[in-house]
Amino acid sequence: MNKTGTMDRLELKALISATADTIAAHAEELTTLDQAIGDGDHGLNMKRGFEAVRAEADKFAAKPLPDALTAIGTKLVMTVGGASGPLFGTLFMALGKEISPEPDRANLATAFGKAIEAVAARGKSQVGQKTMLDVLQPVHEALAEGKTPAEIVAVADRAADATVPMKALRGRASFLGDRSIGHMDAGARSTALLVRAVAETIEGRA
Ligand code: ADP
Ligand code: MG
Repeated sequence: MNKTGTMDRLELKALISATADTIAAHAEELTTLDQAIGDGDHGLNMKRGFEAVRAEADKFAAKPLPDALTAIGTKLVMTVGGASGPLFGTLFMALGKEISPEPDRANLATAFGKAIEAVAARGKSQVGQKTMLDVLQPVHEALAEGKTPAEIVAVADRAADATVPMKALRGRASFLGDRSIGHMDAGARSTALLVRAVAETIEGRA
């Protein structure tokens, strides 16, 4: 966000490339996490989706922010695949629906909260089930509490770590029951990576 708390087009392009960069850099790690308690496609799924968004970055950045986020969400649904594609897609589409064209912190927090509710409804899931929601929810709280970007990044990393001792109750990992305990959830990790990329980009340009 710039000094008046608004987001400009250059910033949206920077956010798209930062998120695609981090997913590409960590694709193998995400795959390894998903191999332990899933089917090992999460790194490739996410990379395919975020590279598809990167390929059309100019098109997205030319739109007002709400429309851009909705279009990015639609693109993610079409390209990520797996269980996580519709869920990350829903996150961005719902964010696009709720966010204002020039969001301040309060609007961002409210919109993000609604977007998380949409993900939970779509996944029939809730916090504590060892999924991306276990990172999204604490990040939302940190955002609403006015935490700094650096603090929010730390919250996200801790929240992803906190999925290690959880037992998976949603998604493929839930088929493993107690054997899902002791591994980090892949979607929680990718969410924390996205949060870091967004927070650092916003902080770097503030
Ligand atoms: P798939 O499980 O179909 O192979 P991915 O590997 O791309 O899809 O994504 C798996 C991730 O999706 C999990 O690590 C988890 O974070 C998230 N996930 C799966 N099911 C749900 C759900 N019902 N609610 C929230 N998140 C979910
Ligand atoms: Mg998978």
